[in-house]
Amino acid sequence: MSTDLEALSRELDLAFAQLTPVERLKTLVERVPGRIVFTTSLGLEDQMLTHLIFAEKLPIEVKTLDTGRLFPETYTVWRETEEKYGRRIKAVYPKGEALEELVNDQGIDGFYYAPEFRKACCGVRKVEPLARALSGAEAWITGLRRDQSANREGMHFVGFDAGRGLLKANPLFDWTREEIRLFAEEEKVPVNALHGQGFLSIGCAPCTRAVRPGEPERAGRWWWEEETLRECGLHVEPDGRVIRAKLVPGTNHGDAAFEGPAES
Ligand code: SF4
Repeated sequence: MSTDLEALSRELDLAFAQLTPVERLKTLVERVPGRIVFTTSLGLEDQMLTHLIFAEKLPIEVKTLDTGRLFPETYTVWRETEEKYGRRIKAVYPKGEALEELVNDQGIDGFYYAPEFRKACCGVRKVEPLARALSGAEAWITGLRRDQSANREGMHFVGFDAGRGLLKANPLFDWTREEIRLFAEEEKVPVNALHGQGFLSIGCAPCTRAVRPGEPERAGRWWWEEETLRECGLHVEPDGRVIRAKLVPGTNHGDAAFEGPAES
């Protein structure tokens, strides 16, 4: 099956260039032999895809990873979306025991102290739940755009995720943020209120800030890791308090949950 999906991903990658986003989604439904899962972060791009899937009544599973640390505004747009379309966005949660162990080990906001802690938190709250969300699926849809950041320029409309053994499709790959914003406005798609307050890419509340004019779109994610210098590992004060680690400027720590570790 994997080999077939690999060939299909190459075929669809070529075909997608000539299609609109909704045609791309319909093509996936027609051509992919098994389950198709769309993981939404409830951000602008993902809301457009959710709109297309729900409005066209496409048999695509829409799931979100509730890390437990999302903004109140994100829960609001989640509820509004379900109310508007009359369909459920399925939640996937971290495993309780692993979460307890993580917080008891590194503290409630341990991700600020060291990159390893941040990765451990993303691992428990996002990466492991994503694996369960995609378990048994043949195709995974994301809202990634080509122009979001430099490390996405080598990506495709459709690729084959060899690690997970599934086809990965990005139906909005060639759309700009402005085109998507206009689409959402015209179609009255529910959008996260934080987008109107300078938040472009919205993730967990403690790890996301508004972006200043001129900053890259994803500069508001894990900004403390971008702006400081890396030191080797974790440092502890003589009294046992943890000192925040410093990181190499420009190090790119992507969104492990909605993109997969390969792009993180
Ligand atoms: S984004 Fe922050 S709070 Fe969310 S899972 Fe990653 S480290 Fe944890």
